[in-house]
Amino acid sequence: MDQVHRTSAYTGRFAPSPTGDLHFGSLVAAVASFLQARQAMGRWLVRIEDIDPPREVPGSAAAILRDLDRLGLKSNGPVLYQSTRTEAYQSAIEILLRQDKAYWCGCSRKDLPASGIYPGTCRNGLAKGKSHRSVRLRVDSVSIEFADLVQGDIRENLDTEVGDFVIQRADGLPAYQLAVVIDDAFQGITEVVRGADLLDSTARQIYLQRCLGLASPSYAHIPLAMHSDGKKLGKRYGTDPVASVPAAEAIFLALKFLGQSPPRGMELEQLWAWAIENWQLASIPHSA
Ligand SMILES: [Zn+2]
Repeated sequence: MDQVHRTSAYTGRFAPSPTGDLHFGSLVAAVASFLQARQAMGRWLVRIEDIDPPREVPGSAAAILRDLDRLGLKSNGPVLYQSTRTEAYQSAIEILLRQDKAYWCGCSRKDLPASGIYPGTCRNGLAKGKSHRSVRLRVDSVSIEFADLVQGDIRENLDTEVGDFVIQRADGLPAYQLAVVIDDAFQGITEVVRGADLLDSTARQIYLQRCLGLASPSYAHIPLAMHSDGKKLGKRYGTDPVASVPAAEAIFLALKFLGQSPPRGMELEQLWAWAIENWQLASIPHSA
């Protein structure tokens, strides 16, 4: 089946963090990215974003992959684990430091303003008595603009809205933004379909791509089915782990949430065939 689908350069992905069970909120991102890839006759890859051991829940990567398999969401290639990619992140950070696009910051949390916007304290070197803690990327005062396929035109000025941002954390781990950009490029991702909670990360990721000379994929941010605290937004969509819901029911609900009109009572395989045939990105609501 894989060969049949590999007829275009389109490559999409689903990139969950192994911080718990697969919930409805992640499932809708998985379904939307999968259908975009299938309809484009492209590839769909799964990446486990396990670069943050303190937040990881043991066993959850395996449980998420089991759920995806049961739901008919099959990766067109081996699953990429970010924990195996440390050297790639490290070498990107070293290159950015060497090119002076990034610098060492000695600030701790208490040194930072309440706004969260970094004031550039260590831009021209560490103050006396400070030591290397994190690595920050120098940002320009230019607007990053992109046309989100669901949310429309987005514009962000990193200088005034974010400030120089961390690409290597004080605990030595690569920051999420850096790892995502390196791996989207490594996996040849041409389109990122993910939850709208990551919309405000996108300008930083595009800026990082430019700093590293990498191509930018297109982006589609789908509305959130879940508040960040895990509370459901609508009562039709449960807070139960997807594992506790029959597969066809879970996919049916995900399609409904994504603004599609699947017929009731289909078996899983039939439902997927219907969804690939009838998928319309334009029907996704902008917000839940
Ligand atoms: Zn600093």
